[in-house]
Amino acid sequence: MTAASDSDDPRVPIVCPDCETTSRIPLSDVADTIERHNEQLHDGEDVAAVDPDIVERIADLAATDLGLLEDSEPESESDSEAA
Ligand SMILES: [Zn+2]
Repeated sequence: MTAASDSDDPRVPIVCPDCETTSRIPLSDVADTIERHNEQLHDGEDVAAVDPDIVERIADLAATDLGLLEDSEPESESDSEAA
């Protein structure tokens, strides 16, 4: 195992309190993996989930990305600041 970081493929920790396991799943597979895990091991109950701590960060990142956190950004209507 190398310590090289796969920044191309961010992994998200999934925790299942029932199984007492944590797995790192590629972001694109997270929803599918959680659904399958809960379906196969927990009769479709929402037991396994993304680490709550990470969810917050992802939501934060997404919000930042969408500019949702910059609601009060001053709108400059003047275009007289030519370079
Ligand atoms: Zn489980």
